[in-house]
Amino acid sequence: MNTTNPKMKLTVSIGEDVLKAGKKAASERRIPVSRLIENYLKFLAKPEVYCFKCGEKFSVNEAEVCPRCGWIICTKCKACRCSLSEESAEVAYHMRKVYEDLLGGRIK
Ligand SMILES: [Zn+2]
Ligand SMILES: [Zn+2]
Repeated sequence: MNTTNPKMKLTVSIGEDVLKAGKKAASERRIPVSRLIENYLKFLAKPEVYCFKCGEKFSVNEAEVCPRCGWIICTKCKACRCSLSEESAEVAYHMRKVYEDLLGGRIK
């Protein structure tokens, strides 16, 4: 994080139960809620994922989508669904759904 980046106030309304449970989980992990929100917004603006093949982290924004399988292509090793077996593709697909639920839509 850029240290010269000024902090701004954000006022949000969150369901009471969600906020209580979230604050509890945050304090158990010793992470300030403001940092969690900041992390999420960073992730939303510039999602980064780990390649299922080479394990390298890469930015989704910089990656291309494979015209054959419709998956994002790893910027390091160029892997996409085309290089996976049916079984492995299913595993990767279901892992990816976690990101998509968090992002509220397709990764790319
Ligand atoms: Zn890779
Ligand atoms: Zn492909």
